[in-house]
Amino acid sequence: MTRRDRSSLLPLLLLVSLLLAPIWSGCATMGATDASSGKAKNVILLIGDGMGPSHFGAAWLYSNRVLKKDLQMVQVMNAGRTAYLVNDTADAIVTESAAAAGQIATGRKMTARAISMAADGKTPVTTVMEMVKVKGLGTGLVTTSGITDATPAAFAAHVPHRSDEASVAEQELKLGVDVLMGGRKQFFLPEVSAGKRKDGRNLLDEARAAGYAVVGDAEALKAAQGGKILGLFNMGNMVYEIDRKATMEPSLAEMTAKTLDVLSRNPKGFFAMIEGGRIDHAAHRNDAAGTILDTLAFDEAVGVAREFARKNPDTLVIVTADHETAGMALIGHSKDSKEYIGIDLAAVQKVTASFEVIAEDLGKSPTPQKVQQVVKEYLGIQITEDEAKTVANDTIRKLDPANYSYPYLHSLAFVLRPYLRVGWGSQTHTASPLWAFGMGPGSARLTGLLHNTQLFDIMKTAME
Ligand SMILES: [Zn+2]
Repeated sequence: MTRRDRSSLLPLLLLVSLLLAPIWSGCATMGATDASSGKAKNVILLIGDGMGPSHFGAAWLYSNRVLKKDLQMVQVMNAGRTAYLVNDTADAIVTESAAAAGQIATGRKMTARAISMAADGKTPVTTVMEMVKVKGLGTGLVTTSGITDATPAAFAAHVPHRSDEASVAEQELKLGVDVLMGGRKQFFLPEVSAGKRKDGRNLLDEARAAGYAVVGDAEALKAAQGGKILGLFNMGNMVYEIDRKATMEPSLAEMTAKTLDVLSRNPKGFFAMIEGGRIDHAAHRNDAAGTILDTLAFDEAVGVAREFARKNPDTLVIVTADHETAGMALIGHSKDSKEYIGIDLAAVQKVTASFEVIAEDLGKSPTPQKVQQVVKEYLGIQITEDEAKTVANDTIRKLDPANYSYPYLHSLAFVLRPYLRVGWGSQTHTASPLWAFGMGPGSARLTGLLHNTQLFDIMKTAME
C-alpha cells in the first residue's frame, strides 16, 4: 500500500470510529453501572499524607516481596477505577496539606496554610462534611497525626492559619463530628493540665458533657460505647508505625474499624475521612523505613474500608494523597552493582526505629564515632568513617538548607543511598502528580486526569 492509498483510507477509518464511538462508550458505561455509578449511602475518603508514586511503589515492593501479600490499595484499584490527580492551588504550584485537603473538602482552590477559607482569609467555604452533617449523616475524622492538624481540620473547621490548632479543636467539637481520633491532645487541654490552650478551657470535659466517650489508649478504644467518640492517643502526634510496637496506641486500621462500626449505625449513612498522617512526616525526614511502614499501616486501613464496602456495596471508597513529600526515588545502584538492583528490602526490614528516634539519639553535635554507633544500632549497617563524617558535618543540609532542614537526617539519608537504594530530592513537598482511585457508587468518575478540587463534587454528587 502506498502512502497515498493509506492517506485516502483515513477519512473512512475516521468515519467508522465515529460511528462505533457510542457503542464503545456505551460498553464502558454498561460496565460501570451498578458497581461504580449511582448513589452512595456512605463515603470513606482515605488520604495518605505525602504518599506519592514512590512511597506507594516502595510499599508495594515491600508488601509483595517481604510480607508475601499484595497491597489492599491494589485490590481497590482492581475492583474500581483510577485517575491521575494534580493538586496545584490558588497561590502555589507546590501545595501543603491545608490547601490540598481544603480543595478536596470544598471543591475550591485554596491558598497555603488557610483551613477551608476563601482567598480573603476570612470567609469560610462550606465543606462536604458540613453538608452531610446538616442532612443528619454520621461524620468521622481519623488520623495518625494530630486530629487538629491540617488534613482533618480542613473538613470540619475554618481558620486563617493552620497553626491555630486550639480553635480547630473547638470547631471540630462544635460541629459535632461523631468520631474524632488521632494525636495532639495538647490542643484540648489548658496549660495547667500540660496542654496548649491559653483560654483555660478543658475540651475533654466539654466533650464528655456533650456525650462523647473520651478515650486515650487502644484498650479504652475497644471498650468505648455509644455513638460519639473522641480518641486522643498522644499529647503530640501519634507515634510512627515503626515505633508503635511497645505503645498503647491503636493502629490506624483499628481506629478505622471502630469508626466504621460506630458510624454505620446511622441509618442515613456517613462520611469519614481517614488519614495516614505520618507518611508525610517520615518522608520529610528522608526516613525510608519509616515511610514504608506508615504507608503499609495506611494500606491496612484501606483494607478495613474495602472490607466494609464489600459488605455494604452502597459505600464509595476513595483513596488518594494530598501531595507527594520529599521527592522519594527508588534508585538503582549499590556501591559495587554493575546492573540496576533497586531498593534493599532486607535492609529496610532490619531497621528498628524511626529517624525521629535516631535523631534524638544522635543528639546536638554527634561525633563521627557516635554516628557510626547509632547507624549500626538502629539499621544494622556499618558505614565508613568518611560517611560518618559527612553526617557529623551535616554536609547535605549545609549545601541547601532551604530544601533540607532536619539536622543530620538528610546527610544520613544521603550516606545511606547506596545501602538502602532510596534517594530524596528534598525534605519538602513536591508537585509530583498523584492518583485517586476507588470503588463503589460514584467511583466511575475516577478516570482520566482529575484536579483534586473535583474529588469534592464526586463525593457530594454520590451522596446526594
Ligand atoms: Zn508535609
